[in-house]
Amino acid sequence: MPEPVAIGIDVGGTKLVAATLAADGRVLERLRRDTPARDADRLVADLGGLIAELGPGLPVGIGIAGLVTPEGVVRYGPNISVRDLDLAGALRAEGATHAVVVNDASAAALGEQRAGAARGHADVVLLTLGTGIGGGVVVGGTLLVGAMGFAGELGHVVVEDAGRRCPCGNQGCIEAYASGTAIGRRAQERLARESTDSRLRAVEELTGRAVTTAARDGDRLAREVLVEAGRWLGVAMVSLTNALDPEVILLGGGAAAETATWMVPAARETLEHRIIGGGWRRPPDIELTALGDDAGMVGAGLLAADHAT
Ligand SMILES: [Zn+2]
Repeated sequence: MPEPVAIGIDVGGTKLVAATLAADGRVLERLRRDTPARDADRLVADLGGLIAELGPGLPVGIGIAGLVTPEGVVRYGPNISVRDLDLAGALRAEGATHAVVVNDASAAALGEQRAGAARGHADVVLLTLGTGIGGGVVVGGTLLVGAMGFAGELGHVVVEDAGRRCPCGNQGCIEAYASGTAIGRRAQERLARESTDSRLRAVEELTGRAVTTAARDGDRLAREVLVEAGRWLGVAMVSLTNALDPEVILLGGGAAAETATWMVPAARETLEHRIIGGGWRRPPDIELTALGDDAGMVGAGLLAADHAT
């Protein structure tokens, strides 16, 4: 077995998943615990326990949903009840020699760039499609964290002024057009307005998943809703490509693979027609992620290994 170079930990809303990693990002030994989501002291103690069991002395990287400063302070996390928790400092106090904490979607972007679907590419954008939309950016092989640590909030790229309401409080964010929640809502809206025949009329809870299932079963309205969401996603990709010029745009998250048949061609067409310099360049490839739920853990661990050398 190769030597471990770091420990990567994904702090999810219900589970902590920790693993030792080889230099190429391969997972060596893996442990799982329930997340003590309401107790910051227990969270730190449990993370300390996982580190002690897996390999004290190894650099530790943590990926967590929320707003994390470059110093590793978790300002806010939607899944756990912590505010302004200096998690990197607390882990060092628990004995970790090197500890880094990053937003989970940013960590996933780095994981996919180093060890997943974007291996070999230096400039990568990741969009994660689920109930919301997350994102991460790697520029020239380096994870973009930004001045305050808030870079990569790609779900809140605005695609329409005075557009649909987003859970973040703003209007017109791409999350309000192409997330699972938005797709379910859009289907509901069309069913109320049109007399089109659709099997979605029989569905009690109109989620993005219900729309995807109906699309797979051949439902025309469901497919149209997904194609429309794909076009909106393409609009966001135009701005991201004009700003960052990535070689590849990755789609990950629970909804990406199942909706790709309808969303990806629509996104690609919009991207090809609207990016700057379209006649003189190749548009970025749009591809699905490869590491699944491990991406954040792998990226966070490899980031910690970078910092320790
Ligand atoms: Zn928003």
